[in-house]
Amino acid sequence: MAKIHELASVLADQIAAGEVVERPASVVKELVENAIDAHSTQIDITVEESGLKRISVVDDGDGIPDEDTEMAFKRHATSKITDRKDLFKIKSLGFRGEALPSIASVADVTLTTSTGTVGTLIHNVGGHIVTHTPAASRKGTDVTVKDLFGNVPARLKYLKSPTTELSKITDIVNRIALSYPNIAFSLVHNGRELMRTSGRGDLQQVIAGIYGVQSARKMVAIAGENPDFKVSGYVSLPELTRASRQYISILLNGRYIHNFQLSKALIAGYGSKLMVGRYPIAVLAITMDPLLVDVNVHPTKQEVRISQEPELSQLIEKTIFDRLAQENLIPDGFSEM
Ligand code: ADP
Ligand code: MG
Repeated sequence: MAKIHELASVLADQIAAGEVVERPASVVKELVENAIDAHSTQIDITVEESGLKRISVVDDGDGIPDEDTEMAFKRHATSKITDRKDLFKIKSLGFRGEALPSIASVADVTLTTSTGTVGTLIHNVGGHIVTHTPAASRKGTDVTVKDLFGNVPARLKYLKSPTTELSKITDIVNRIALSYPNIAFSLVHNGRELMRTSGRGDLQQVIAGIYGVQSARKMVAIAGENPDFKVSGYVSLPELTRASRQYISILLNGRYIHNFQLSKALIAGYGSKLMVGRYPIAVLAITMDPLLVDVNVHPTKQEVRISQEPELSQLIEKTIFDRLAQENLIPDGFSEM
């Protein structure tokens, strides 16, 4: 008798969920990225009990046509890419078609969505659609996730304290807001507003909202380019530092990424101006041809492979070095009058 059989789709989704949905902050990230891909201008995030009781992400984006709503919960189902060549020029944040089925397999999900005509409500519990009915027609999408990991006790146990899980949510929302100054974001936890951005497109204003007005005033705009890359953003003057690297945000084509080499290059741009163990606050946005970057390295897409990374590193270092040199027109030893 054959021993090998295909796994039931919900089970396969739960296995995938282990990688995509590590913690409440991952759910927030995936839902917000979907809202951004849907061209939203306003994204409101409401969280209860660090996301374990409820996470809602409400957007004013394109919405999902009724006939696509059930498909959205199928694994590897996406509207964002179609064939192989699309995979090499990804412009959207999502493309793997894994987030909704993964989240649904480990939670209770209600999706209310409309493209502006008649809306749809889908209730999916543990990966099974239990309701599909007409709903209000306000254009946009509301995804509400309840009882996260209720059916995966091992995952619940692995989570950190509610304070830590909440700080991970705040962190990811902040970085996404820094990546999209043109989108108005808000984050509310247990009824208390933790952050809000205006969506007016002013990055320095977003920085002020997140790191404080005093810090934003001590940051300077940077801009540099070479034939393959463009870098822009804000970096702190050497007088404004933090004890860890986590105040450095590197955004590649609108995606917040983890990249040690690039943050090292950013720090190198300060030369000897930083004290040992101190790091700048920085928001560094890189734009490049999507052909030169592989975002399909890890399910969370926060690790990417960049071709010509050394050239990009050089550009970053030089852009920051040159910009900070301009601030040093007054030789040491002169004090302000
Ligand atoms: P992916 O983002 O990789 O395509 P997801 O599982 O996150 O996969 O979402 C599946 C599909 O559902 C998306 O391709 C998109 O068409 C649709 N979708 C999900 N969230 C939204 C949203 N907030 N607004 C509009 N469409 C959405
Ligand atoms: Mg997605």
